[in-house]
Amino acid sequence: MPDSTHHTDVAIVGAGPVGLFAVFECGMLRIKCHVVDALDVAGGQCAALYPEKPIYDIPGYPVIEAAALIEKLREQAAPFHPVFHLGQTVEKCERTEGGRFLLTASAGTKIDSRAVVIAAGVGAIGPNRPPLAGIETFENKSVFYFVKRRDDFAGKRVVIAGGGDSAVDWALSLADIAARVIVIHRRPKFRAAPESAAKLAKLAQEGKIDMVVPFQLEGLEGVQGKLSAVTVKSLSGEQRRIPADALLAFFGLAMSLGPIAEWGLNLEQNRIAVDPASCATNVPGLFAIGDIATYPGKLKLILSGFAESALAAHAIHPLVYPDRELHFEYSTTTGIPELA
Ligand SMILES: Cc1cc2nc3c(=O)[nH]c(=O)nc-3n(C[C@H](O)[C@H](O)[C@H](O)COP(=O)(O)OP(=O)(O)OC[C@H]3O[C@@H](n4cnc5c(N)ncnc54)[C@H](O)[C@@H]3O)c2cc1C
Repeated sequence: MPDSTHHTDVAIVGAGPVGLFAVFECGMLRIKCHVVDALDVAGGQCAALYPEKPIYDIPGYPVIEAAALIEKLREQAAPFHPVFHLGQTVEKCERTEGGRFLLTASAGTKIDSRAVVIAAGVGAIGPNRPPLAGIETFENKSVFYFVKRRDDFAGKRVVIAGGGDSAVDWALSLADIAARVIVIHRRPKFRAAPESAAKLAKLAQEGKIDMVVPFQLEGLEGVQGKLSAVTVKSLSGEQRRIPADALLAFFGLAMSLGPIAEWGLNLEQNRIAVDPASCATNVPGLFAIGDIATYPGKLKLILSGFAESALAAHAIHPLVYPDRELHFEYSTTTGIPELA
């Protein structure tokens, strides 16, 4: 088997907004990066949880949709030619000779680097799947756990299962463009923001959304991944068959630190304790930034993660270039450096 080991300066675990900006900050200091993410797209929570929601607290953008922010971050990182390994979970992080690290990802990819930046957010992101027979044959064809593009559901009969913010927000949003929106929830009460739950009740009253409550998903009907109906059952045993073209199942996300918890890091409530001046963890050469990093006063905001990216990049510079003194410079002075 050919040796698939990649060699680079920094391996970044997580291609969320903070991992992406870390590529830029490292690049500005001529540090090269490889980035690994369990999701098959870059963008972390922004891509997986709320791509079309407007964000209002990104400096310089009075408002920007989450997906557009990710696009901009990718564009900003592009001059530094990051290498992405998507759809792969980092499983192992071993120390090797000369203070280097060897990361191993689920597809067998190995990355040898001088430092590792953990930008793993809330952990590898994956949906909680409802336990329905044969659901995997429908996944990503007519059963979805995330909405990548709202327009994909235009003119369709969409069943939305769940009682939280995602279920309610998408029901409201798709009501305008879907042929029909049917909401299934096992309780009459929704765990969504009160204003959104009130809007949902109003649209249901006006007959613009169908509510199937209190019912639970029981089965899927269709062929070759193409859904034709969803069957549901109430707690009292009443069954119904709901013709449908798509099912959006919002039962929350499973986010687990997974193997990262085994890397000998100081953890505080599933987050990695770092020195706020450098984002260094207790393991020399391992840094943590973004949602996964914690220190007194930490705010779990994208903008905090951006600043942490800059701090980590500066702290990593002497590891990558031990013989080169780092002079602090503005980007207006350096421009965008060329990476060899
Ligand atoms: C609905 C919603 C609205 C929000 N609105 C705002 C807002 O208005 N303003 C704001 O500042 N913040 C907001 N946030 C929070 C913001 O999204 C997070 O602070 C931000 O995404 C953190 O970025 P990150 O890169 O640290 O982590 P994440 O975005 O969580 O990305 C981490 C990535 O690491 C990957 N990963 C983890 N472990 C592994 C592993 N072992 N191997 C491979 N990959 C791994 C994950 O799959 C994930 O893609 C919001 C969050 C939500 C859910």
